[in-house]
Amino acid sequence: MPIYEYVCAACTATFSHYWRSIKAAEQAEPPLCTACGSGTTRRILSGITVLGSAGGLTPGEQAAQGRQQAREATITPKDQIDKLRSKPTTT
Ligand SMILES: [Zn+2]
Repeated sequence: MPIYEYVCAACTATFSHYWRSIKAAEQAEPPLCTACGSGTTRRILSGITVLGSAGGLTPGEQAAQGRQQAREATITPKDQIDKLRSKPTTT
């Protein structure tokens, strides 16, 4: 079961959302902000955790994740990036 992390564009809160499958997460609209209810949330790819997966990301997925992070770094305020990166990760 994948756990995706999201950041709210309205209040900058971050939260995790459990999906039934990666496919469901990719196809569904982002969940509403748990703090303010706004729908203007977007996924933080660095926050992906997949329970029950021993192998983790494939090299291709890691490359895609790196590209996404590089892209987000160009559109996200630095203080917000620092805030996000200060969160503990499981990887
Ligand atoms: Zn919010």
